[in-house]
Amino acid sequence: MPWDQLSDEQREIRDLVRTLARERIAPRAAAIDESHEFPWDVVELYRENDIFGLFHEEQYGGLGTGTWLALIAIEEISKVCATSGLILAVQELGSLGLKLAGSEEQRQRYLPRLASGEWLCAYALTEAGSGSDSAAMRTTARRDGDEYVLSGSKRFITNASVASLYTVFAKTDPGAAHAGISAFLVEANAPGFEVTRLEPKLGISGSTTGELAFEECRIPAGNLLGAEGEGFRIAMRILDRSRPGVAAQALGIAQGATDYALEYAKTRETMGKPIAEHQLIQAKLADMETECEAGRGLLYTFGRMVDDGVDGPELTKASAMAKLKCGDVAMAVTIEAVQILGGYGYIKEYPVERFMRDAKITQIYEGTQEIQRLVIAREMLKESRAFLLAGVG
Ligand SMILES: Cc1cc2nc3c(=O)[nH]c(=O)nc-3n(C[C@H](O)[C@H](O)[C@H](O)COP(=O)(O)OP(=O)(O)OC[C@H]3O[C@@H](n4cnc5c(N)ncnc54)[C@H](O)[C@@H]3O)c2cc1C
Repeated sequence: MPWDQLSDEQREIRDLVRTLARERIAPRAAAIDESHEFPWDVVELYRENDIFGLFHEEQYGGLGTGTWLALIAIEEISKVCATSGLILAVQELGSLGLKLAGSEEQRQRYLPRLASGEWLCAYALTEAGSGSDSAAMRTTARRDGDEYVLSGSKRFITNASVASLYTVFAKTDPGAAHAGISAFLVEANAPGFEVTRLEPKLGISGSTTGELAFEECRIPAGNLLGAEGEGFRIAMRILDRSRPGVAAQALGIAQGATDYALEYAKTRETMGKPIAEHQLIQAKLADMETECEAGRGLLYTFGRMVDDGVDGPELTKASAMAKLKCGDVAMAVTIEAVQILGGYGYIKEYPVERFMRDAKITQIYEGTQEIQRLVIAREMLKESRAFLLAGVG
């Protein structure tokens, strides 16, 4: 098993995260879901235990323990609370622009505050009229002396209203498609920036999802990430690295639901014996566990590829496959968990209906499952497997 290859230090950190999840976050999960309030106490817990540091290099105040372990942390937390797992995944999503395209000065200015969790961050690509087709965005940015002036709006932005720093994509050349997009760092107190609406949702209820408005929003020209016109490439490179965070969240949800259903099945009796002894229930449990393990294989492979320095098309494909598999596993497995609990699976007294509601978003955000399939197929079509045809005809 690849996860047996964790170093002693990595194992120790994994165990700490697991303990925090079980003892401190699990007891809060139902209340976070019901209140629809952002769990600042969980953020505080992460700050106290240096959990945000898992996502950062030592030179910027992080722990430097690598991507694989960071994904395991999201998985462990999401086993008990998907909203709390998402806080970590989005902190990485919002930091990646700086890591991949930031100047040294920009990194020094912001990354230590993100690594400590003093500031939360966000990634703002989607607009009302552009989700999967992100190049159709209409938000613009024009240079005015030492500043850029942003105009437009973003929709469905996770951490809206709680983030202090937003990575925002806007067109510096509105006439061009992909090549007209640039990436910017926008602080929450920038003049002309406002969060104008928060969405009530099916799941991940404690996470904020909101609309951002930019009305002649002025930011320093030094907050451009990379060069003008590089924004689309930066956005896609960020997603290559961040999608596995969603996969880790999805896998955690799926494993949490499997674990709960297993324990329930051992104690609930029908026809004179625990339902776990009925073979149709056993088949469900076996399939659920096998699917989780399959998703975990893809996810951990991705984490270790990043830690080994792999980049480019190979990483893009591995990232999309992990997200696709784990998202689909989360949805299928949580539906089965509800089924195993019968009527009790459908009521709020038990956590599996929450797992099922939380699972759905993992098939939608950071690129829908349809888009993941397009990405995987696109990478496959670039590969040559012509040797198989050599003997034909
Ligand atoms: C809770 C939540 C949090 C989010 N957080 C963020 C965030 O932090 N930052 C951010 O930028 N965005 C965020 N999003 C936006 C999310 O990434 C988009 O909703 C998603 O990418 C899909 O875009 P869309 O909703 O516009 O759907 P559309 O693009 O309109 O797609 C509708 C349907 O058509 C399918 N489809 C579209 N194009 C194709 C195609 N070429 N081939 C086949 N099928 C296709 C899609 O798969 C989907 O099923 C969030 C969304 C939600 C709901």
